[in-house]
Amino acid sequence: MSNKIRSEMDELRRRLQIVNDLNGAGAVLYWDQATYMPSGGTAARGRRMATLTRLAHERFTDPGVGKLLDALQPYAESLPADSDDAALWRVTRRQYDRATRVPADFMAEITAHASESYDVWTHARPANDFAAVRPFLEKTVALSRGYADFFPEIDHPADAHIAEADYGMTVAQIRPLFAELQDALTAMTDVISRREPVDDAMLRQAYPIDAQQAFGEKVIRAYGYDFKRGRQDLSPHPFSIALAIDDVRITTRFKERDFNEGLFSTLHESGHAMYEQGIDPALAGTPLADGTSAGVHESQSRLWENMVGRSRGFWRYYYPRLQAAFPDQLGRVEEEAFYRAINKVMRSLIRTDADEVTYNLHVIIRFGLAMDVLEGTVSVADLPAVWHARYEEALGVRAPDDRDGVLQDVHWYGGLMGGSFQGYTLGNIMGAQFFAAAVAQQPAIPEEIARGEFGPLHEWLRANIYRHGSKFTADELLERATGGPLQLGPYLEYLRKKFGEIYGEL
Ligand code: ZN
Repeated sequence: MSNKIRSEMDELRRRLQIVNDLNGAGAVLYWDQATYMPSGGTAARGRRMATLTRLAHERFTDPGVGKLLDALQPYAESLPADSDDAALWRVTRRQYDRATRVPADFMAEITAHASESYDVWTHARPANDFAAVRPFLEKTVALSRGYADFFPEIDHPADAHIAEADYGMTVAQIRPLFAELQDALTAMTDVISRREPVDDAMLRQAYPIDAQQAFGEKVIRAYGYDFKRGRQDLSPHPFSIALAIDDVRITTRFKERDFNEGLFSTLHESGHAMYEQGIDPALAGTPLADGTSAGVHESQSRLWENMVGRSRGFWRYYYPRLQAAFPDQLGRVEEEAFYRAINKVMRSLIRTDADEVTYNLHVIIRFGLAMDVLEGTVSVADLPAVWHARYEEALGVRAPDDRDGVLQDVHWYGGLMGGSFQGYTLGNIMGAQFFAAAVAQQPAIPEEIARGEFGPLHEWLRANIYRHGSKFTADELLERATGGPLQLGPYLEYLRKKFGEIYGEL
């Protein structure tokens, strides 16, 4: 490396470090707002977070960054594609080109609209008042189309938004994949709904919250979530957030009479957080120090929540310990009855409460509606009615109102439309593919899980996924870790085997 190249690389890293510091400071403000900030702080906090976002955007889109990227191109292209410098150049170039394509004023309009729209939604949902959010949603759709217009090379307006969350994926790829998945899940759900329903009443006894919290903490420590580089707090909507590679926090919520809520949201967020804690420290302070896509992120949360945390082996080890923590509630409940209860399949109305078999049907409905709205085949005015119709068609259930219908999820009311749902289902599919590859390469993993040993699985995930941060796209990671592109097979096989054992052959 020549001295010139070395000093240009240093200068690029120095500039990116400042952007990373500004974003990291913004993350601390967000974490504080979502956990401990008194409500009186809202206005000042909103302004300060917007200031940091604007400064970070200005610093990142500075023409000086573009000049450095131009100057470093021959060097980056001379390196092996998997080297840190080559990946840093590639990912920064991609993000820089996207960030400079959309004018700052348009971005500011989106941000201001999103926060106003979110505020209206927080009142409209409890009041079941779609009319109140309708003009805001119409503007969201217009802004979402307008944003896509800055990317004339794409085939579908949603592709601009999908590229933000799940770079490399397009509507044209996702649609057939989701259609095939929907057919398979609908068939499974039909069969299960004709079988004997599972009794899960024992999960709705009173479970003291401090004991729930202590149990969840014990499990995620065993998983390998590092409390010296993280912490767990309470918040109304659980989330995980990376303030730095060595400070990745999670939040959770507990309900006394709903055992599933606290434990499984804790396991879910620990999966997101272990991904961020596992990033190679050499990538710190750069755009590479981040999960690579929404789908890969969700693959890790769902893997630890479901493929591990709702597995038979896991409970072979943990059920006696759970009984010891809750002797009055579970002392006389058989392990098998408990296992079936936490895996109960049921057609329901709320996405976030849905079981593993029906969950993706909720996602696919939302993805399809967003595509139709962006294409103009469904109007915002018709959206509440079409929502109910799609639910009846896909799940056989109908919400009594819009609160649990079109107003259910925050996503369309706090950002743009078109890129916010596919990651959930892509994550489930990828999670199964990663897990199958880990077990194929290390067949002892299921037995280790049944002994409460998660180190080997965690290490496999760290080596194959976590440490790379954003160096590789989701496709590249899948190819490297599993030897092939995204496939539905492992996921369907996992669901058929697991739920076939519970409900009879599927
Ligand atoms: Zn998640």
